Amino acid sequence: MGYARMVEGPVGVLALQGSFVKHAEILCSLGVQTRQVRLPEDLQNCVGLVIPGGESTTMSHLIDDFALREPLIAFSRQRPVLGTCAGRIIMARDVDDPRVIPLGILSCKALRNYYGRQINSFTAPVRVPFDCSSRPLDAVFIRAPGVVECGPEVEILATHRDQAVMLGQGHHLGLAFHPELGSDPRVHAYWLKGFMP
Ligand code: GLN
Repeated sequence: MGYARMVEGPVGVLALQGSFVKHAEILCSLGVQTRQVRLPEDLQNCVGLVIPGGESTTMSHLIDDFALREPLIAFSRQRPVLGTCAGRIIMARDVDDPRVIPLGILSCKALRNYYGRQINSFTAPVRVPFDCSSRPLDAVFIRAPGVVECGPEVEILATHRDQAVMLGQGHHLGLAFHPELGSDPRVHAYWLKGFMP
Protein backbone atom coordinates (compact mmCIF):
# COMPACT_ATOMS: atom_id res chain seq x y z
CA MET A 1 0.00 0.00 0.00
CA GLY A 2 1.44 3.37 -0.94
CA TYR A 3 0.77 5.84 1.83
CA ALA A 4 4.25 7.38 1.45
CA ARG A 5 3.08 9.68 -1.36
CA MET A 6 0.34 11.15 0.82
CA VAL A 7 2.18 11.48 4.15
CA GLU A 8 4.46 14.48 3.92
CA GLY A 9 7.09 13.64 6.50
CA PRO A 10 7.99 10.97 9.02
CA VAL A 11 5.53 9.59 11.52
CA GLY A 12 7.10 9.75 14.99
CA VAL A 13 6.97 6.78 17.32
CA LEU A 14 7.59 7.57 20.98
CA ALA A 15 10.55 5.28 21.69
CA LEU A 16 11.14 5.63 25.43
CA GLN A 17 9.74 2.26 26.39
CA GLY A 18 7.34 -0.42 25.17
CA SER A 19 6.34 -1.82 21.79
CA PHE A 20 7.55 1.02 19.56
CA VAL A 21 9.46 -1.25 17.13
CA LYS A 22 6.30 -3.14 16.18
CA HIS A 23 4.46 0.11 15.38
CA ALA A 24 7.34 1.23 13.18
CA GLU A 25 7.24 -2.12 11.36
CA ILE A 26 3.51 -1.84 10.60
CA LEU A 27 3.91 1.76 9.41
CA CYS A 28 6.88 0.68 7.25
CA SER A 29 4.72 -2.06 5.75
CA LEU A 30 2.34 0.74 4.66
CA GLY A 31 5.26 2.50 2.98
CA VAL A 32 5.50 5.27 5.57
CA GLN A 33 8.76 6.66 6.93
CA THR A 34 9.02 6.61 10.73
CA ARG A 35 11.24 8.31 13.27
CA GLN A 36 11.97 7.22 16.84
CA VAL A 37 11.14 10.08 19.20
CA ARG A 38 13.19 10.36 22.40
CA LEU A 39 14.02 14.05 22.50
CA PRO A 40 11.90 17.14 21.87
CA GLU A 41 13.78 17.91 18.65
CA ASP A 42 12.88 14.48 17.26
CA LEU A 43 9.29 15.76 16.90
CA GLN A 44 10.34 18.37 14.37
CA ASN A 45 8.66 17.79 10.98
CA CYS A 46 6.84 14.69 12.21
CA VAL A 47 3.34 14.56 10.75
CA GLY A 48 1.90 12.46 13.56
CA LEU A 49 2.94 10.49 16.62
CA VAL A 50 2.33 6.98 17.92
CA ILE A 51 2.46 6.45 21.69
CA PRO A 52 2.90 2.69 22.06
CA GLY A 53 1.84 0.19 24.67
CA GLY A 54 4.19 -0.62 27.51
CA GLU A 55 4.06 0.48 31.12
CA SER A 56 2.32 3.79 31.68
CA THR A 57 3.96 4.53 35.06
CA THR A 58 7.44 4.14 33.55
CA MET A 59 6.49 6.01 30.39
CA SER A 60 5.10 8.90 32.44
CA HIS A 61 8.40 9.19 34.36
CA LEU A 62 10.48 8.96 31.21
CA ILE A 63 8.41 11.66 29.51
CA ASP A 64 9.49 14.02 32.28
CA ASP A 65 13.08 12.73 32.43
CA PHE A 66 13.42 13.46 28.70
CA ALA A 67 11.69 16.87 29.00
CA LEU A 68 9.01 15.73 26.57
CA ARG A 69 5.82 16.67 28.42
CA GLU A 70 5.25 20.18 27.07
CA PRO A 71 6.58 19.36 23.57
CA LEU A 72 4.20 16.37 23.33
CA ILE A 73 1.21 18.44 24.44
CA ALA A 74 2.11 21.21 21.98
CA PHE A 75 2.62 18.67 19.19
CA SER A 76 -0.79 17.09 19.86
CA ARG A 77 -2.50 20.47 19.34
CA GLN A 78 -1.27 20.49 15.74
CA ARG A 79 -0.83 16.87 14.78
CA PRO A 80 -2.63 13.54 15.20
CA VAL A 81 -1.66 11.11 17.93
CA LEU A 82 -2.38 7.38 18.00
CA GLY A 83 -2.12 5.85 21.48
CA THR A 84 -2.39 2.15 22.17
CA CYS A 85 -2.93 0.58 25.60
CA ALA A 86 -0.38 2.32 27.88
CA GLY A 87 -0.26 4.99 25.16
CA ARG A 88 -3.99 5.58 25.55
CA ILE A 89 -3.55 5.85 29.34
CA ILE A 90 -0.88 8.49 28.77
CA MET A 91 -3.23 10.38 26.43
CA ALA A 92 -6.11 10.50 28.95
CA ARG A 93 -7.26 13.49 31.00
CA ASP A 94 -7.27 11.46 34.27
CA VAL A 95 -5.88 8.12 35.38
CA ASP A 96 -6.94 6.04 38.39
CA ASP A 97 -3.28 5.77 39.45
CA PRO A 98 -1.58 8.92 40.75
CA ARG A 99 1.81 7.63 39.61
CA VAL A 100 0.78 8.31 36.01
CA ILE A 101 0.64 11.96 34.98
CA PRO A 102 -1.32 11.95 31.72
CA LEU A 103 -1.01 14.40 28.83
CA GLY A 104 -4.72 15.33 28.67
CA ILE A 105 -5.08 14.74 24.94
CA LEU A 106 -8.18 12.51 25.23
CA SER A 107 -11.08 13.68 27.34
CA CYS A 108 -11.61 10.56 29.46
CA LYS A 109 -10.44 8.80 32.59
CA ALA A 110 -8.30 5.69 32.15
CA LEU A 111 -8.58 2.69 34.45
CA ARG A 112 -5.32 0.76 34.45
CA ASN A 113 -5.33 -3.04 34.14
CA TYR A 114 -9.11 -3.06 33.79
CA TYR A 115 -9.19 -6.63 32.43
CA GLY A 116 -6.80 -8.09 35.01
CA ARG A 117 -3.20 -9.19 34.96
CA GLN A 118 -0.88 -10.43 32.22
CA ILE A 119 -2.29 -13.94 32.63
CA ASN A 120 -5.75 -12.59 31.77
CA SER A 121 -4.58 -11.33 28.36
CA PHE A 122 -6.86 -12.30 25.48
CA THR A 123 -7.64 -11.80 21.81
CA ALA A 124 -11.17 -10.88 20.79
CA PRO A 125 -12.90 -9.96 17.53
CA VAL A 126 -13.66 -6.24 17.48
CA ARG A 127 -15.81 -4.59 14.84
CA VAL A 128 -14.40 -1.36 13.55
CA PRO A 129 -16.35 1.39 11.79
CA PHE A 130 -13.90 1.85 8.94
CA ASP A 131 -14.27 -1.64 7.59
CA CYS A 132 -17.66 -2.39 6.09
CA SER A 133 -16.59 -5.92 5.19
CA SER A 134 -17.66 -8.37 7.83
CA ARG A 135 -14.10 -8.99 8.97
CA PRO A 136 -13.55 -7.87 12.57
CA LEU A 137 -10.09 -7.13 13.95
CA ASP A 138 -8.38 -9.76 16.05
CA ALA A 139 -7.72 -7.34 18.86
CA VAL A 140 -5.01 -8.28 21.37
CA PHE A 141 -5.66 -7.10 24.95
CA ILE A 142 -2.67 -7.21 27.31
CA ARG A 143 -3.31 -5.70 30.77
CA ALA A 144 -5.51 -3.33 28.84
CA PRO A 145 -7.10 -0.19 30.27
CA GLY A 146 -10.77 0.55 30.72
CA VAL A 147 -12.29 3.97 30.24
CA VAL A 148 -14.94 6.05 32.03
CA GLU A 149 -16.08 9.67 32.06
CA CYS A 150 -15.70 10.31 28.34
CA GLY A 151 -16.36 13.93 27.43
CA PRO A 152 -18.83 14.91 24.68
CA GLU A 153 -15.93 15.52 22.29
CA VAL A 154 -14.96 11.84 22.46
CA GLU A 155 -16.39 9.52 19.83
CA ILE A 156 -16.64 5.85 20.70
CA LEU A 157 -15.56 4.04 17.55
CA ALA A 158 -15.52 0.44 18.77
CA THR A 159 -16.62 -1.45 21.85
CA HIS A 160 -15.97 -4.81 23.40
CA ARG A 161 -18.22 -6.14 26.19
CA ASP A 162 -19.67 -2.69 26.86
CA GLN A 163 -16.25 -1.06 27.12
CA ALA A 164 -15.08 1.55 24.63
CA VAL A 165 -11.92 0.07 23.13
CA MET A 166 -11.41 2.58 20.33
CA LEU A 167 -11.88 6.30 20.97
CA GLY A 168 -11.58 9.19 18.58
CA GLN A 169 -11.22 12.83 19.49
CA GLY A 170 -10.55 15.21 16.63
CA HIS A 171 -7.59 13.73 14.79
CA HIS A 172 -6.51 11.56 17.73
CA LEU A 173 -7.18 7.87 18.19
CA GLY A 174 -6.91 5.91 21.45
CA LEU A 175 -7.07 2.12 21.60
CA ALA A 176 -7.24 -0.28 24.53
CA PHE A 177 -5.71 -3.06 22.44
CA HIS A 178 -2.54 -3.61 20.39
CA PRO A 179 -3.05 -3.18 16.64
CA GLU A 180 0.71 -3.41 16.12
CA LEU A 181 0.80 -7.08 17.11
CA GLY A 182 0.08 -9.39 14.21
CA SER A 183 0.12 -8.22 10.64
CA ASP A 184 -3.22 -6.48 10.19
CA PRO A 185 -2.46 -2.86 9.23
CA ARG A 186 -6.07 -1.64 9.07
CA VAL A 187 -6.00 0.51 12.22
CA HIS A 188 -2.78 2.27 11.26
CA ALA A 189 -4.05 2.76 7.71
CA TYR A 190 -7.30 4.27 9.03
CA TRP A 191 -5.39 6.65 11.30
CA LEU A 192 -3.08 7.70 8.44
CA LYS A 193 -6.00 8.33 6.10
CA GLY A 194 -7.63 10.53 8.71
CA PHE A 195 -4.90 13.15 8.57
CA MET A 196 -3.86 13.05 4.97
CA PRO A 197 -4.62 16.12 2.88
N1 GLN B 1 -1.29 -2.12 32.07
C1 GLN B 1 -0.27 -1.32 31.46
C2 GLN B 1 -0.22 0.05 32.13
O1 GLN B 1 -1.07 0.37 32.88
C3 GLN B 1 -0.49 -1.16 29.97
C4 GLN B 1 -0.30 -2.49 29.29
C5 GLN B 1 0.04 -2.41 27.85
O2 GLN B 1 0.37 -1.34 27.31
N2 GLN B 1 0.00 -3.55 27.21
O3 GLN B 1 0.66 0.76 31.86
